[in-house]
Amino acid sequence: MTLGFGTFRRDGERRLGFRSGEAVVDLGPGSLDELLPQGREAWERTTWEAVAAAEFGNRSYGLDEIEPDLPFTVADYVDFYSSLEHATNLGRMFRPDAEPLLPNWRHLPVGYHGWAGTVVVSGTPVRRPCGQAKPPEADAPVFGASRRLDIELELGFVVGVPSRLGEPVPASAFADHVFGVVLVNDWSARDIQAWEYVPLGPFLGKSFATSVSAWVTPLALLEDRRVPAPPQEPRPLPYLRTEGDWALDLPLEVELNGTVISRGNARGLYWTMPQQLAHATSNGACIRTGDLMASGTISGAERGSEGSLIELTRNGSEPVRLGGGGERTFLEDGDEVVLRGEPLGEVRGRILPA
Ligand code: CA
Repeated sequence: MTLGFGTFRRDGERRLGFRSGEAVVDLGPGSLDELLPQGREAWERTTWEAVAAAEFGNRSYGLDEIEPDLPFTVADYVDFYSSLEHATNLGRMFRPDAEPLLPNWRHLPVGYHGWAGTVVVSGTPVRRPCGQAKPPEADAPVFGASRRLDIELELGFVVGVPSRLGEPVPASAFADHVFGVVLVNDWSARDIQAWEYVPLGPFLGKSFATSVSAWVTPLALLEDRRVPAPPQEPRPLPYLRTEGDWALDLPLEVELNGTVISRGNARGLYWTMPQQLAHATSNGACIRTGDLMASGTISGAERGSEGSLIELTRNGSEPVRLGGGGERTFLEDGDEVVLRGEPLGEVRGRILPA
């Protein structure tokens, strides 16, 4: 059952809502932006009030009576690379002659800074990007529509309470600053990415669009999903050590044109959310209300649990089969992708031609 806070439109007005299953409780004019900076006590009080209102069916709309909006104003957007299996799979494909994991990977949560202004709400169509790429057989790069458009199944956490410049946020303060969690589809143009990413990391191969679920599930409603994270070897440096269990037992799936092509779970992520936040602020950089930090693609060890097409299809060499007889390596125009993971809900997007 989907549970979370979001912002919706009804009769042209923006309102704060709480989704509980197939109903949305109307919490009044405004948006999630006003609740985010209020802090943990207010978040938990509002959450239990909303859960109670949903149980009694107070001030509720059906999903077909409202139009979900981007739930919060995205401040900064950061994307990590926290799945050991995903980093290993991509390392093998992008650097076939080298060790798949670079020397830093087990010592810090690797990340890059994304493009906050192109984060869109679930349901927003995604236009196939154009860009510069160099096909393996070509002598020189070309500019054109991406031919290797992909998805990335991720979790993201949303910052509520800001921090002060110069003061790192310890992992132990995670729940004082972070409001909740969303599902994320980090759309990726693999051909643009492969040509541009050395040495400063992903840029235009990622920045054209990132989709998030319409409902942000507060941490208080994820308590019963918290489980131990996988063991970390070597032991991280002191600022990355955490107390308590911070992996989330969230079954996830990827659907393409109506066929489920991947099933996995977020609990296998190597680096946890408190470690990501502690690392992101360890140099004294401050966080702001609305910052979105995503996990990186969530891939499991088993075949069929990978969170991207480049992994599911072994770099395009083994197409995935779809119901009705079709198959795919990368996305075609008109394709629709839905990521699902209760209680976070879904992230949906259809590909428009370049
Ligand atoms: Ca990503």
